[in-house]
Amino acid sequence: MEVSNSYITIKTHINGAPKESDFELKTATLALSVEPGSNHVIVKNLYISVDPYQINRMKTHSSSQKALIDSRRITPGEVVDAYGVAKVVASGNPKFEKGELVVGRIGWEEHSVIKEENLINKLDPMGFPLTYHVGVLGISGWTAYAGFFEVCKPKKGEKVFVSAASGSVGNLVGQYAKLFGCYVVGCAGSKQKVELLKEKLGFDDAFNYKEETDLKSALTRYFPDGIDIYFDNVGAEMQEAAVANMNAFGRVAVCGVISEYTDAGKRAAPDMIDVVYKRITIRGFLVVDHINVYGDFISTTSDQLRSRDMHVIEDIATGVENIPSAFIGLFRGENIGKKIVKIAEE
Ligand code: NAP
Repeated sequence: MEVSNSYITIKTHINGAPKESDFELKTATLALSVEPGSNHVIVKNLYISVDPYQINRMKTHSSSQKALIDSRRITPGEVVDAYGVAKVVASGNPKFEKGELVVGRIGWEEHSVIKEENLINKLDPMGFPLTYHVGVLGISGWTAYAGFFEVCKPKKGEKVFVSAASGSVGNLVGQYAKLFGCYVVGCAGSKQKVELLKEKLGFDDAFNYKEETDLKSALTRYFPDGIDIYFDNVGAEMQEAAVANMNAFGRVAVCGVISEYTDAGKRAAPDMIDVVYKRITIRGFLVVDHINVYGDFISTTSDQLRSRDMHVIEDIATGVENIPSAFIGLFRGENIGKKIVKIAEE
């Protein structure tokens, strides 16, 4: 059987904030069968993860493009590969059978042909909705868990600040920190997001950074006794303000710097005298280096989900044609929680 496979490409490299006209919806005919002797797997994509780091892959140049195979530069015209959940529709690989669920690197398209078996794994939903395996039990959750526990090395009672706190990674960092016994303040870009953090997710406090004219004094107000841990999702001036408010031996986990992704002129310039005299550790990390905690992450988080201690915040759009607007929305603060695009019915 042949289908018309819709997919999304970039028209040219994107070096600023992404916009609708940077993307193109294309279609190609795809045979839903594999050639005899081939070990390819053809999957029907169900849910796609929408992630800020993809913008760095779409640039003409970014130092990130050489770091990992998953962060390599995207060529205009090719389908954008991305993490997600899919169902096998045809397989020449004995490890995967038709009808099985898989999770891993698929693409911004309706069907993907997986040519390297290590790009996908079988998925056991463990009784959870499939979307959880894109977000809270997927890369976002693993990033929040590894970044908080492995990089920040928290102690109970420490004071934690999280930026982009209503986002996919940020909301989970705040929840892990609260469940662990820390004092947690988050910042986000709207009143609705701030209310969510305080009223539903149990943050001790939260504020709208867009309403603050002086971020350093805002953080002094929220942390009169200083910050021990800053989980940085945004970079630039928020990182500078957090470092200015850190306590001695404070830790900054630099998870991402989204405010710098679309503005080449933006940089964090934290006061290095503060860094020296307060003996602050500023450490960037990539989740893929923390496979050692993956098992703990899945078992701890599954338990917290079953006991309803962990809340799941998802923001789901539908249809492959809506992936560009979902992606663009990340840089405009339009998403609340994990942004996912549903491609097809389960
Ligand atoms: P997300 O937080 O769900 O979505 C992005 C959010 O960032 C937006 O909703 C917006 O929220 C905020 N934002 C956008 N532009 C901003 C700006 N100029 N200044 C301040 N905030 C801005 O995305 P995510 O998937 O959870 O990713 C969060 C960060 O983690 C990103 O930097 C990402 O690259 C990084 N990450 C790193 C790893 C790793 O292995 N190191 C893995 C996954 C993700 P507001 O309304 O609050 O502005």
